Amino acid sequence: MAITRRRFVQSAAALPLTAASLSQIAPPAPASAVSLFDPWVDVHAGHLGRNVEAVSRRVGGRPILAVVKNNGYGAGVANVGRLLDPLPAIHGLAVVKLQEAMALRDAGVRKPILLMGPVDERHLEEAASRDVDVMIYTPIGEALDRVAAALGRAVGIHVCVDTGIGRVGVPHSRAAELIRDLAARRGIRLAGTMMTFTEDPEFDREQLRRFRTLCGALESAGVRLGPKHAASSFALFQNPDSFLDMVRPGMALYGIYPEPPFRASGVLELTPALALRARVAYVKRLSAGESAGYNRAYVASRDVWVATLPVGHADGWPRVAAKGARVRIRGTLFPVIASVSASHTIVEIGPDRHDVEIGDEATVFDWTEGSRPEDVSVACGASVYDLAMHLNPLLPRRMVT
Ligand SMILES: *Cc1c(COP(=O)(O)O)cnc(C)c1O
Repeated sequence: MAITRRRFVQSAAALPLTAASLSQIAPPAPASAVSLFDPWVDVHAGHLGRNVEAVSRRVGGRPILAVVKNNGYGAGVANVGRLLDPLPAIHGLAVVKLQEAMALRDAGVRKPILLMGPVDERHLEEAASRDVDVMIYTPIGEALDRVAAALGRAVGIHVCVDTGIGRVGVPHSRAAELIRDLAARRGIRLAGTMMTFTEDPEFDREQLRRFRTLCGALESAGVRLGPKHAASSFALFQNPDSFLDMVRPGMALYGIYPEPPFRASGVLELTPALALRARVAYVKRLSAGESAGYNRAYVASRDVWVATLPVGHADGWPRVAAKGARVRIRGTLFPVIASVSASHTIVEIGPDRHDVEIGDEATVFDWTEGSRPEDVSVACGASVYDLAMHLNPLLPRRMVT
């Protein structure tokens, strides 16, 4: 197929991704360095707001500590921070990396921020100096007192209790002693007490019992624990008893069901707020017997049109997409074939060309039926968490409403 230069220029000129729309893009790429053929992420502010409202209704208006870790689940941590911060249902934001906590403060976020990742003493001071609360589960009361003394005010912490996940957190059977010690220190403001479920529905109930027993005993002894929180997105669907004083979802706020079957449950209406799109870089016809991809992973069994998209696993589009995912171009879903390489995906258009042209917008996933992240997950086995959180931070983010 011959693509004339004129044709190419026309299709490029028709691209709606103008310098003006790129001006809202999150760092690091300056707009001028972003090719109109680079894949990009759309972040839908309206959908994000709608999901926050739906979650808030589900939890009876309890405050939401919104998890925005891992670059805001792909949306850009500053982007989601700015959108969530003003919403009344949002109590605060939670991240795992100090850099993200700082990026949120730099973006103007005023609400509480909880750093859920481990932090060394030097960075404790840096976090506290910018009013970032830290998740604590080891006996570091003295270090926190030192930081508080240096800053001239108490350091906000949430104590993390391990009730059975076996990850971080002070084991529940030994937590009372640590919490009493921390709560008694002048340099510490106990801003919350938290745990994480294993998401094994039966064991979750046992975990909740352990947490309640611990917290109940401490509170009857006069220890002020701050809001108690445990529920991630999974618990929003499974376990209303776990909502406690505050909930701590991530994925649901981005409008994606943590488990695709939850979609049919009717418990919570979610609309994806994230889309991954790219533009067709090339269209060609393969004759029967010709191949596509490394190792000739695909061999045409008939004469067939294929399109190449400049998006691959280095952008966060998983390799397993080649095992059943479909990409939408001009309103039709076309299967991913061969293998997904670092920067390329090949889709089979079929014996008919369907008018697919270079420069056509291709939806890898978005919020339309059949293209939702859950649809991709069901089709090829990719986790919805990987689809969102593995999106390369270098991809341009475009805010849409
Ligand atoms: C990621 C995370 C969450 C949110 O989980 P989702 O499944 O995205 O709702 C909650 N709590 C902790 C400790 C986390 O690490």
